Amino acid sequence: MEHRTGRLLRVDLSTGRVTREMVDEQTALDFVGGRGFGINYLYREVAPGTEPLSEKNKLILVNGVLAGSSVQAVARWMAITKSPLTGTFFRSVAGADFGAWLKFAGYDLIIIEGKAEKPVYIHLTADGCQILDAGHLWGKDTRVTQQWLSQQYGQNTRTACIGPAGENLVRYSAIVSGRRTAGRGGTGTVMGSKNLKAIAITAQRSMSNESEALRNLIRRQVDIMRTNKAFIHHKEMGTTETQDVTNRLGIFPVKNYRLGKHPDHEKLTGAEYRKLRVGEFGCYSCAARCGKAHLVTSGAYKGATSEGPEYETIWSFSAPIENSSIEATIAADEICDDMGLDTISTGACIGFVYELYERGILKKKDVDGLELSYGNHESMLALVRKIALREGIGNLLAEGTARAAATLGAEYYAMHVKGLDLPAYDPRGAKSQGYNYVTSNIGASHCFGYARQEIFGATVPRPVDRFAEAENADIVIYNQNLTAMGEVGIICSFSQGWGWFPEVYGKMLAAVTGVERLADLGYLTTVGERIFNLERAFNVREGFSRSHDNLPKRITSEPLVTGGTPGEGQVVRELDKFLDRYYQLRGWTKEGVPSAQKLKELNLGSVLEDMAKS
Ligand code: SF4
Repeated sequence: MEHRTGRLLRVDLSTGRVTREMVDEQTALDFVGGRGFGINYLYREVAPGTEPLSEKNKLILVNGVLAGSSVQAVARWMAITKSPLTGTFFRSVAGADFGAWLKFAGYDLIIIEGKAEKPVYIHLTADGCQILDAGHLWGKDTRVTQQWLSQQYGQNTRTACIGPAGENLVRYSAIVSGRRTAGRGGTGTVMGSKNLKAIAITAQRSMSNESEALRNLIRRQVDIMRTNKAFIHHKEMGTTETQDVTNRLGIFPVKNYRLGKHPDHEKLTGAEYRKLRVGEFGCYSCAARCGKAHLVTSGAYKGATSEGPEYETIWSFSAPIENSSIEATIAADEICDDMGLDTISTGACIGFVYELYERGILKKKDVDGLELSYGNHESMLALVRKIALREGIGNLLAEGTARAAATLGAEYYAMHVKGLDLPAYDPRGAKSQGYNYVTSNIGASHCFGYARQEIFGATVPRPVDRFAEAENADIVIYNQNLTAMGEVGIICSFSQGWGWFPEVYGKMLAAVTGVERLADLGYLTTVGERIFNLERAFNVREGFSRSHDNLPKRITSEPLVTGGTPGEGQVVRELDKFLDRYYQLRGWTKEGVPSAQKLKELNLGSVLEDMAKS
C-alpha cells in the first residue's frame, strides 16, 4: 500500500542548493512520520563522532502525519539533531502553528545541512525556497525577528527562529515559534552554528484533502474529549497548577534537589497564577488552548508578560533558588522566550550556581558581584541575561551544568543525566519518572516517557506504586514506546490522557497515510519500539553505554526531604537491578546494546554491524 506522506526538503547552507525528495516506501512503512523520519535520517546521515556544532551535523525539522488536518492536538513539530549539550540523539518538541504551516507549504520534513558563510534566513512557500541575508536580524530577539518576517511576508507567515542565545551558541538554546519553543537540548544552538537565524513559511491554510473517513474519526475524537475530565481541566488551567500536585506528592525539587516541597508553595499555586491571567493561546487545531498568558500589573516587574509560564518554567524560576515571587518567574520566562533559552536548563544552571555560592565554592567576585542568596530573584534575572549573552559567569553557565561542574570540580552538585538537566519531578518520589530520565535517549527529559501513573494516578496499563523500582521496568518501557508511537502523529503529550489515544489515533494515521495496518495497535507499538531502539543505537554508536544510564549521586544517596509527605526519606536504591530488568525486557544486552535478535525483529538489521563494532 502506498504511503501518502514523506515529502522532504533538503537545504544545504554551504552550497545554497535546495532539493526535493520523497521518503522511500520502506522507510515510510517502518517509521511512519514525525520522530520516526527524524531518527531514520539522523542515523543514516550524521556519522558517529560528528561534532554537534560543526557543519557536518544536520538539523531536521519535522511535522507529523496528522499535522495541518482538523484532528485535535496534533500540530506539534519537532527539531531533531545531535545535541551540543548531551552528544546524544535529540528531539525537542514545540507547538503553535509552524508544523501545520510546513504541511501547507507541501512538506513533512526539512533537513538543513552545512553552514552559511554569513547569517541567513530561509523563506519557504509552496512555490519555492530562498536563502536570504539575515545580517539585519542577527542580534535581534525572537519577538522582533518574527515581527519583521511577518511584516515582510504577510499574515500567512509562520516562523521558527533563534534569539541571541542561539547566536552565542549557548548550549541549551531554543528554537522559538510564536511564543512556543523547541526548548531542550540545544536545537537552537545547532541552528546558530549554521548561521541560520530563521525559517519563515508563507502558505495558505488548507484542509481540502480530508477524507470522509478522517472526518468521522475527528467527530469521534471530539465527542470523547468533550466529556473527558482531564481535557476539561487542562482547558481550564493548562499546566499552571501542576505544582499543586507535585508539592503535595513531595516531588517539587527545591534548592537544587535538596527538598521535595517549596516552603512557600501556597504562594505559587495555580490559583495565584490565575489572578494574573490575561488571555489564552493554543496550537493549531486544538480546542484546549492551554497556553495561559500572564501579565504582571504592579511592583518591580510591572509589565512583564509571557504566554506561560508552563509548569516546568513555574518550577525552574522558583524552586531552584527558593523564590516565591511569581512575578519574577513570569519576567524570567519572558526573557528566555525573547532570548531563545531553554527555561529548564537555564533555571537548573542558576540553582546549581546558587548552591555553589552558598557552600563557598564560588565567591561574590566569581559571580560578577551578584548576591546569590536564596530567594534573591533580582540576581536570578541578571543571570538569565548573562547566560544568553555569555557575559561573565554566564559564559561558564552557558556551557550547561555538566561542563560547568567539570570546570569547577563540582560534579556532585550538577543534577543531570547525560548532560541534560533534571526537570521538575524528583526521581526519589516518582521512580518510574526517574528511571525514564535514566534510560531516555535524550537524557533527563520528563516527556520522553512521562509516568502519568505516578503523577496523576493513571491506571493504564496498570496501577503503579511510585516508590517501587525494578518492578516498574515494564511501565517505563510502556510509557517510552507509547510516546514514540504518538510522536509520528505528532500528538501533543497532554492529549494522551484525553481518552481518544491510542485507538482513534491509529485509525486516523491509517486514514491519512492509506496504510491500513496503522490502525492495528500492535503494529503501531512496534513502530514506537523501532524508533526508540534506533535512537538507542545512535547513542551506542556514539559511545554511550550502561555506565551513562545513571542518576546524580544526590538522588541515589541523600534522602528526600518533604516535610512529612509519604515520600519523606526516599532515595533511588536499585539502579543496577532496574537496569538489568529493563535491558532484559527491552531485548538488549547487559551493557544496554540492542541485541541482534531484537534488531532483526524490528527490521533494523542494517544497524547490526554498527552495534557489533560498538
Ligand atoms: S494541549 Fe496545549 S500544547 Fe497541546 S496541542 Fe493543545 S494547545 Fe498545544
